Amino acid sequence: MFKDREKLRPDYVPEELPHREFEIKRLGETLAPAIKGVRPSNVFIYGLPGTGKTAVTKFVLKVLARTAAKLAVKAPRSCYVNCKYDNTAYRVLASLCEQLGVKVPFTGLSISELFRRFVTGLEESRGLAIVVLDEVDALRGEHGCDLLYRLTRVNSELSSSKVSLIGITNDLKFTESLDPRVKSALGEEELVFKPYDSEELEDILRQRARLAFVDGVLEDGVIPLCATLAAREHGDARRALDLLRVAGEVAEREGACKVTEGHVRRAQREIERDRVVEVVRSMPLHGKITLAAIYLLEKKGVREKTTGEIYSLYRDLCRSLRLDELTQRRISDLINELDSAGLVTARVVSRGRRGLTKIVKLNIDGSILKAGLGEDGRLSDLLP
Ligand code: ADP
Ligand code: MG
Repeated sequence: MFKDREKLRPDYVPEELPHREFEIKRLGETLAPAIKGVRPSNVFIYGLPGTGKTAVTKFVLKVLARTAAKLAVKAPRSCYVNCKYDNTAYRVLASLCEQLGVKVPFTGLSISELFRRFVTGLEESRGLAIVVLDEVDALRGEHGCDLLYRLTRVNSELSSSKVSLIGITNDLKFTESLDPRVKSALGEEELVFKPYDSEELEDILRQRARLAFVDGVLEDGVIPLCATLAAREHGDARRALDLLRVAGEVAEREGACKVTEGHVRRAQREIERDRVVEVVRSMPLHGKITLAAIYLLEKKGVREKTTGEIYSLYRDLCRSLRLDELTQRRISDLINELDSAGLVTARVVSRGRRGLTKIVKLNIDGSILKAGLGEDGRLSDLLP
């Protein structure tokens, strides 16, 4: 099946990024002064997941380094941190220090001391540094916000070096929660990435399929189907590439000689199941019990479930598990979290004089949910 499976992995940055010519040009123009040693404006990039933000940023930084080499000028240093993985101020700073060649311990220093070493590292590098904070919305809390603020001010502490920041986020509401000073400093330039439509996704998939699959193993309908399914998931290229890769793996496991649309459908289910299992696993016990109540109502044929119905069943489940129940208010909050995770849709409706109520619908297949919940031994006995 595969001639090079790695080419479908999300961290592979291809040599060409179809349908992102405009974004590449804009970001390239913004960063171009770096070649002359002039500090580029800070840039804030937003867009939904899988719209190519990380790929475009890494691509442009690579081109910048190449251009500097060609012109025999000093290349800007680039430091990349994904704040979802390094999600504390300490870890972000430790990673930045390390990329500047400054050794710091994994723990034990104060944030101020780390920041001081980072500034010293920058000064010693005597030049321009481009600091990319990817998934910067993951950097929350007092320390996180404080670090963002200090980073936007760092140039005032530097004399022989300069810093430009690129902040990237999937969370379109993130800027509203930012300190206005940070917001205006980071957003000197803004770049919005729109979701791909299914034709654009097809082009992206074809390019990667040529690199990843043996010629001729994909049936004609495979790429269009992956593109259509991913376009429904808000035009997520990562999702489209995952579908194609997993479809290939399913076909391989079955010993098939071609990848078919059936394999794509099975891949879709497999990915969905893994995602649900992962979300459920990371949920607190009472969130799982709430989901179990939703599942049981669904099984009874109740499509539109009110919070009241869910809560009353939730309470019964707590009793049979000999647990103290949470308040209806807390359960309502947990339902909102399930909504954010995409497992359910919760919608507030008016019921005339009886006031407002929330209607909850399950967004995923019942059997997939059951498999996810069943992983918790405490719950598996409650689910028929
Ligand atoms: P984001 O950072 O916006 O969540 P990524 O940049 O990580 O998205 O893109 C997700 C995946 O899709 C990566 O594997 C990336 O290489 C690929 N991808 C995104 N846009 C393109 C494109 N225009 N051409 C080729 N591959 C792309
Ligand atoms: Mg990204």
